[in-house]
Amino acid sequence: MAIYFQFPFCHQVCKHNEDKTSTFAEILKFMEQKRTEVNELGEFGLIKHLTHSFENKNATSIKGVGDDAAIIDAGDDYLVVSTDLLMENIHFDLTYAPLKHVGYKAVVVNLSDIYSMNAIPQQITFSLAFSNRFSVEALEELYAGVKLACDHYNVDLVGGDTTSSLKGLLLSVTAIGRVPKSQVVYRNTAQVNDAICVTGDLGGAYLGLQLLEREKQVFLANPNMQPQFDNNTSLIKKLLKPEARKDIIEALAKADILPTSMMDISDGLSSELMHICAQSNVGCTIYEEQIPIFEDTYNQAIQFEIDPLNCALSGGDEYELLFTVHPDELEKVLDIEGVSHIGNVRPASVGKHIVTKGGNQYELKALGWTHF
Ligand code: ADP
Ligand code: MG
Repeated sequence: MAIYFQFPFCHQVCKHNEDKTSTFAEILKFMEQKRTEVNELGEFGLIKHLTHSFENKNATSIKGVGDDAAIIDAGDDYLVVSTDLLMENIHFDLTYAPLKHVGYKAVVVNLSDIYSMNAIPQQITFSLAFSNRFSVEALEELYAGVKLACDHYNVDLVGGDTTSSLKGLLLSVTAIGRVPKSQVVYRNTAQVNDAICVTGDLGGAYLGLQLLEREKQVFLANPNMQPQFDNNTSLIKKLLKPEARKDIIEALAKADILPTSMMDISDGLSSELMHICAQSNVGCTIYEEQIPIFEDTYNQAIQFEIDPLNCALSGGDEYELLFTVHPDELEKVLDIEGVSHIGNVRPASVGKHIVTKGGNQYELKALGWTHF
């Protein structure tokens, strides 16, 4: 690419005249340009738009953009690589998230993407940018959480990058894992009639967030107030200290079960199930009465006047696994503690539905977390 100059660059990115150096002529020029807002494409539309012209040039790049992690041929095994960016006040709020938990969670959410390819994570890199608001002691707290996660999940911290930011804390974690070639599980390989399974109990993290946000408002109005969480600490724990389902991946291997497709539930059950369906070109039917809802979700959802089912279907930040298995494997899968059978894969022409306890059938909607 030839080097080129164009001052100010600002008009390519800013909507209004935020840059005081912009001249009236520059603003007029900017107004003549076509400008597409990112939310017109949505997160996944944007990723597709920016990456569709990239073709893999190396035979070792087995799976690129589009799954929980990339798959790279490493001889006998596949290497599995996933990366995540966590921004203060977008992904975590230091008013109520202790730095040690933030460090722990930053690692766990990445490991979850490795497990969801049926792989075992072995290494992470951890990068951070921070403003002068953060002391050495604060960063030590963050790293205490990173260490706890590395020890708990048996992964090694093998690098990273450290830089300053003008405002706030930004974390980037890359996780690397391995899987025997025959054992890798993608999102786009669900088959009609497969059983749809989910691990754990859903909805808790969403309500944990609502509780923390409520108490934050109380605290901001009166900084002498301490939070009132009654008996709801389990919901808060779900949000602040999630775990990746290493145990499930180990149990599946032990039982000699290979899911036909799998992903983790970072953005909500229904939206993730719709990803599996879209990428596998299938439909699905799931049943309300079979969806595992986290125990404390019921009481708290009623207090917030929210339907507990919606918390389970649309609440993000769960890091449970959503997977499909051949119907012959279902009995064996249900022997694994913490696995629920929530429905079945159907032909794409049937569509994607949820059947309520009352027997009504509704089209499944992806109301999960979106970033834009
Ligand atoms: P997850 O929620 O499982 O972390 P994402 O929804 O963030 O996954 O990403 C979906 C897919 O898009 C992944 O394969 C990811 O690597 C890819 N992806 C996300 N952002 C970008 C980007 N800016 N450039 C290239 N690929 C991206
Ligand atoms: Mg994922």
